[in-house]
Amino acid sequence: MKEKYVIFLIIIVFESISLLIFRNKEVIITKKFEPNFTFPFYKEEKKKEYLDYQNKTGLSLKESIIRVNIGLNKPFYTDTKETKDRGILTLVNKYNYISKNYIPKNLIEVNNLYINKETYEAFLKMKNDMNKENLNIRIISAYRSYDYQESLYARYMQNDKQEIVDSYSARAGYSEHHTGLAIDIDNGKQNYNNFYLTKEFVWMQENASKYGFILRYPKNKEDITGYSYEPWHYRYVGIKIAEYIKKHNSTYEEYYYEFIDI
Ligand SMILES: [Zn+2]
Repeated sequence: MKEKYVIFLIIIVFESISLLIFRNKEVIITKKFEPNFTFPFYKEEKKKEYLDYQNKTGLSLKESIIRVNIGLNKPFYTDTKETKDRGILTLVNKYNYISKNYIPKNLIEVNNLYINKETYEAFLKMKNDMNKENLNIRIISAYRSYDYQESLYARYMQNDKQEIVDSYSARAGYSEHHTGLAIDIDNGKQNYNNFYLTKEFVWMQENASKYGFILRYPKNKEDITGYSYEPWHYRYVGIKIAEYIKKHNSTYEEYYYEFIDI
């Protein structure tokens, strides 16, 4: 009688333990397959878009969320909106435009061009340090008005199909140059198209971020920025952000939707 009782007890204990293990397993399995949506930049109303985009691309959930927030699950120039004026952090790209009559604050005139004051001061510091190594850069384009960009784009359209023009020129209102925070540079000797072949470019790759500049349209990021590689085009964002973007081999779009527009 006593033995039977002990065996019965053992069975009860064994089954309870099994049940516990099984339940825990179930919890672990559920956790594994339930996406983690706890990112600060997660937007509940876009949940379906995130999952659809992740299924389509196979990217991580975090990357999928950021890319959908950028707007990349839809073609460029789709669902465009007027960008928020965030000073030196303003984002202008193929989903965020500046209104036609917007004139940036803090523009100064230097050698027949206009540029944001803080951007120019950072540029000068960078140029001076570069000069110490017998290298030189100059700005060939900075602020551009809506009308100027419109005429530039129209001129390109006379020679190329729109799809091609869009890969290297912004439509009016969508140019980062409109902010006064973007600069195109060369070394004063070679055409800017060949800037990537110069020692100045090597220097810029290493040092531009220390002065707050990022290479805005890098190689292999065309699917995010919407532009072909532009070794001559730099954007001022301040030192901290520039260093972060360089370190993480990232783009301003990705930074903006992970840390600024949340
Ligand atoms: Zn440019």
